[in-house]
Amino acid sequence: MANSKKQTIGFQIDPYLESPKAFHFEMPLYHDFDLALGMVEEKIFELLSNRKTIDAPCIWCGKEGVFTAHEYMSDNISIPRWTTRHNGLTEIAYCCTRDTSHVYHSYYFKKGNFFSKVGQFPSVADFQIPQSEIYRKALGEEQYKELVRGISLSAHGVGIGSFVYLRRVFENLIEEARAKALAGDKNFSNEEYFNARMDEKIKIVKDYLPEFLVDNRGIYAILSKGIHSLTENECLEYFDTVKIGIEQILDEKIIQKEKADKAIRAREAIQKVHGKINGTK
Ligand SMILES: [Zn+2]
Repeated sequence: MANSKKQTIGFQIDPYLESPKAFHFEMPLYHDFDLALGMVEEKIFELLSNRKTIDAPCIWCGKEGVFTAHEYMSDNISIPRWTTRHNGLTEIAYCCTRDTSHVYHSYYFKKGNFFSKVGQFPSVADFQIPQSEIYRKALGEEQYKELVRGISLSAHGVGIGSFVYLRRVFENLIEEARAKALAGDKNFSNEEYFNARMDEKIKIVKDYLPEFLVDNRGIYAILSKGIHSLTENECLEYFDTVKIGIEQILDEKIIQKEKADKAIRAREAIQKVHGKINGTK
C-alpha cells in the first residue's frame, strides 16, 4: 500500500493534465495520451467530467472571466470503466458567466486507449494572444508579430518552428542592449561582442538588460537546443516554460520603462515647483 502511494507521487504528470484550464484551453491540438498508462485515464476522466468553474481570460469580454461547464462528460467511472465507452468524439464546452453566448469549445477523439485533442474554438492561439498584447509596446510591432507567430505555431502543434520565433525575440532583446551599450559606453568593443558566444554577449551587455534575463540566460541554450536537437514534442512541452521566461524579461522591461518615465515626470514637476517658489520669493 505504502509502496503504491509512493509510486503515485513519483508519477510524472503531463503538465496539461494539471488543470481543466490547461487541458481544455491551453493544450495544443493533437496532443495525445495513452489511457492504459498510470493515472492518465482517471485524470482525463476527471477533466472531461469537471463541473467546477474555470478562471480564464474571456476573449470576447476582453478581461478575466469565470467559466462554467456547459457540456461535459456525465458518466460513472466505476463499472465498467468509462474507457470501454466513449469512442469517437466528445465535445466539452464552457460558458462565460458574464455572457453565456461566450463559449469555449474543445473536442476530443478516443479510440480504445488512444486519446487526443482534435479541435478547439476559439483556438489556443486566439486564447493566448490577447494575453500577450500587454507586451506589444515593449517589443515593438515587428517583434510582437514574431512572438505571436511563435505562440500560434505552438498552439497548432509546431514545436521547433515556434522555438525559432522565440529565439528571434530573445536575440533582439540582446541586440537592443548592445546598441544601448555602444551608445552609452565609449570603451565598448563591437568586435569583442560579435566574436563572443551568446552567454558571453549577455555578460558583456548585462548592465543594459533586465536582471531576470541575465540570471536566466540558460533560456537561450534551451531555445538553441530546441532548434538543433530537441524533438517536436519536446519543444512543445518546453514552449510555455520558455515563453514565461521571455514574459518575465518583458515584464521587467515594462517596469523599468514605467519607473524611468515616472522619474522624468517627477523631475519636471519638481523643477517647475522649484522655479515657481524661487520666482515668487
Ligand atoms: Zn465573456
